[in-house]
This record gives sequence, C-alpha cells and structure tokens, in this order.
Amino acid sequence: MNAKVHSELRAIVGDRGIVDSPTRIVPYESDGLAILRQRPELVLLPRTTEETAACMQVLHREGVPIVPRGAGTGLAGGATPVEGGVVIGLARMREVLELNVEDRFARVQAGLVNASLTRACEKHDLFYAPDPSSQRACTLGGNIAANSGGPHCFKYGNTTQHVLGLVIVTHDGEVLELTESDVEPLGYDLVGLFVGSEGTFGIATEIKLRLVRRPPVVETLLAIFTDLDSACETATKMIARRLEPSAIEILDKLTIQAVEDSVFAAGYPREAGAVLLTEVEGLEEEVSATSEDIRAIFSECGAIEVRTARDDAERLSLWAGRKGAFGAMGRVAPDLYVADACVPRTKLGAMVQQTVEIAKELNLRLATVFHAGDGNLHPNICYDRRDQDEVRRVLEAGRRILESCVDAGGSLSGEHGVGLEKLEQMEYQFAAEDLATMCLVRDVWDPDRRLNPGKLIPLRACMETRAAFIGKTPQDIAR
Ligand SMILES: Cc1cc2nc3c(=O)[nH]c(=O)nc-3n(C[C@H](O)[C@H](O)[C@H](O)COP(=O)(O)OP(=O)(O)OC[C@H]3O[C@@H](n4cnc5c(N)ncnc54)[C@H](O)[C@@H]3O)c2cc1C
Repeated sequence: MNAKVHSELRAIVGDRGIVDSPTRIVPYESDGLAILRQRPELVLLPRTTEETAACMQVLHREGVPIVPRGAGTGLAGGATPVEGGVVIGLARMREVLELNVEDRFARVQAGLVNASLTRACEKHDLFYAPDPSSQRACTLGGNIAANSGGPHCFKYGNTTQHVLGLVIVTHDGEVLELTESDVEPLGYDLVGLFVGSEGTFGIATEIKLRLVRRPPVVETLLAIFTDLDSACETATKMIARRLEPSAIEILDKLTIQAVEDSVFAAGYPREAGAVLLTEVEGLEEEVSATSEDIRAIFSECGAIEVRTARDDAERLSLWAGRKGAFGAMGRVAPDLYVADACVPRTKLGAMVQQTVEIAKELNLRLATVFHAGDGNLHPNICYDRRDQDEVRRVLEAGRRILESCVDAGGSLSGEHGVGLEKLEQMEYQFAAEDLATMCLVRDVWDPDRRLNPGKLIPLRACMETRAAFIGKTPQDIAR
C-alpha cells in the first residue's frame, strides 16, 4: 500500500485508529486458532459507521482484501487475514446506542462486548440471552458473523434468533440499513441471511438485538458421575423425556482437573469421571417439578452425587468453571485446538468414544466439554505449536473428528463457524451444486470476493461457479 493511501486512511481513523508497527500488529495475525497465522498489511480501528464506510471506499478503490474483526476470540480462523490485506477491527465501536425497555430491544455498536449488553440492561431485569463462554471478551458483531451459541442457547436459541436489525457497510463502502419492521417483516430475510456470513457479506457496524426478561426462579444442578458415558446417557434421556432445562453442559475428567487447578475452580470433585451442569428456569412450581424429574434421571443413570447451588454466588461459581474451561486448559499444554461439531443428540455417547479413539491413535491428549443439549461437541486437543509433528497430528485429528460427525448425520459446526479451519470439509459435507449456489449468493454481496477471502466457501467451488457463468475454465480465472 503506498504512502498516499496510508495517509488517506490515517486521516479517516486518526492516529489511534491505525496499527502498523511490527510489534502491535502481531495479535492480528490470527484469532484463537493460533495454529494458522498471517500478518495483515495494516489494521484499521474506526469509531463509527461513517468511518468504516470511508475506509471501505478507499480499500475498494485500491482493490485491497478486507478482513473484519471483533475481539479475535473466534476458534475457526475466521478473522485470520489469510490473504493479507487490511483488518478492520471493531474494538473501538462499543457504545450502547439505545436501550428500549418497553419494547425490549437494544441498539448497539458492533464492537460492544457481549457481556456488556447484559450488564447495561440488568437493572431493568432484562438480559441478552446468547451467552458464548467467551462472552466477557467477544463482540456482538463477531457473534452475529459466526451465529454464536452458548450454554443457554439450548433454551433461547442461537444468535440468529435474537437479531432484529443491522446496519452494515458493503464491500464498496455503501451503508445499508437491514433493520426489519417491528411488525410482520415482509420480503427476503436479509438479516437472517447476514447472520452467520462470517464477514463475507459486509461489516456489521450497528445491531438491533432482542432482550429477554429474567426468569423469576433459576435452579442450578451439578450431577457427578464416575464416567463420561453415564453423563452422555443422562443428557439423552433428559431430552427424550421432553424435559426442558435451559442448559445441559458436560465436562470430562481432564477438563475438571484443569478447571480445579485454575482460577476458575468451581468446586467440581477432582476424582469425578464427568460432571453434568444443568439449569432450570421459570415459575417456582414449574422449576421444582422439572428439577424433580431431572434428579430422578440423574439417579437412574448412576449419578454418585447431585449438588444444587444454594445462592447466586454458588451458581455463578459453577458456571465460572464451565465458562473458564477452555482457558483453564492452558495449564495442561501451551496450545489448545478446540474442535466444534454437532451430532444428533442420541449419537453423543458414540461420538465421544470415537473422538477418544482418534486422539489415542494419533497420540494426542484430549479433553472434552460439550453443550450436550445441542449435540455440540468440543473435543479439545492439547498441544505445543513448536512441535511440528504434533501440529500435523492435531490437524489430522480435527479433520477426522469433523468427518466422523458428518458421517453420523451431524454438521461441521455447532457454533464456531467454518472460517479457515473447516474449509476443506465443506466439500465433505456439501455437494458441488450446494457450494456453487452458496458462491452465487456470496457474489451478490461481494462480487470482487475481497471481503474475508479464503473463508467459509472453498475457493475451488467459487472458481467453478464463476467459470460456468462467464464461459471460462477455472484455470483461466485463476490466471
Ligand atoms: C474461551 C472461549 C470460549 C468460547 N466459547 C464459545 C461458545 O460458547 N459459543 C460460541 O459460539 N463460540 C465460542 N467461542 C468462539 C468465539 O468467541 C465466537 O465465535 C465469537 O462470536 C467470536 O467473536 P469475536 O468478536 O471474537 O469475533 P472474531 O473472532 O474477531 O471474528 C469472528 C468472525 O466474525 C467476523 N466478524 C467479526 N466482527 C464482524 C462484524 N462486525 N461484521 C462482520 N463480520 C465480523 C470475522 O471476520 C470472523 O469471520 C469461544 C472462544 C473462546 C476463546
């Protein structure tokens, strides 16, 4: 990028909005999937929609790839600037623009951290329901781009069910308002289409989100098991019997031990083979009836102990252990690869077994945490990125785990998205025609394919679609 363009961008975002020094730019080389890294040419940190649009106009004119970034907590390489170019970070856009208590919505800038929204509305007895375990760091814009989930999304639904509107900046710097009418929306659901687009359709700068009323009563239960199988069987039974807790989370032995050794220590028993954490919400009678049924299943499935949080402090501590689980794994090895895949809930037990076997065959240390209610597995592989052979085995394990989940009728992602990590497996899950159709949709939003290039859809599929449309071979296009 020449000096003239550089100063044009600096004039838009100011000195504090530009990161170009070799040391300050390092954190932008990757997201939480630190195994894959690439340095961007420049990082821009605009403060408003208008500044974002002005930056995008310049970058469009110059033909520079653009990678949107929230807090960089993604685990699939989504914010990694794999083709270089410029990262546009939303971290300075963190205002709550409107809090409408009567109609229960908030309008926020996209760089607002997830947990800050709940903090901003808790005095009104409202909260923002999707609660990724990273919610104290990740941004709402990142949540939208990845359609994030979280422990309580079993009851409340993933991010997409909470987004009422968006302001986005398109690839060429145009500002579009996609907010839906408060009454019955008409026409195509463009907000729904944008959610989960992983930064390939535009940059979300402002978001209108649904807020939910706090339930009057919440009961948190921790069931302790000697083995992981029994915990999985319990989760399957709870759902088969149509019990509706708001969350069902399972942690295995290695995770429990790492949590208990860390600052997130929650009092989980170290000797347990697995713990199942569940929560029931609603009116008092409803909560006590459901909890009673759940306790009956715990004992049927061989729980050796069941604990009930006695107050908010104990409840928060039990959750801190679960939410801090990935961070706690830092005590086991310097790096962690968090796989993310979904299977039908009845196959959870078998799939957990399969991941254990894959890790054993490849001589890797595996810890497992999962959103059992959603059939969403997170096999966590501990490794050291300085060991090239181990890195190769980790990637191989990731591929095999994902493919096994697809074979079991599941999906490549429960909540982390495709990013860079699952690009190849997209061809395993989808037929060429499906991918070609996705490319056509992507091209409507970003015809030059410069928004977050190299993510979500494998380039080969894109090349073939474009070739078919303009009568050239993929080789011609590649040239
Ligand atoms: C400890 C830990 C726990 C986690 N737990 C969960 C969990 O429970 N559930 C879950 O779903 N995920 C979880 N994650 C993954 C991650 O936090 C989520 O994917 C989160 O939504 C990413 O938000 P971010 O702001 O960090 O986005 P980033 O990582 O910066 O970006 C994620 C993707 O969104 C795009 N993007 C970012 N902002 C915008 C924007 N404004 N407009 C358009 N595109 C944008 C990026 O290009 C990228 O493709 C966890 C991660 C960690 C490290």
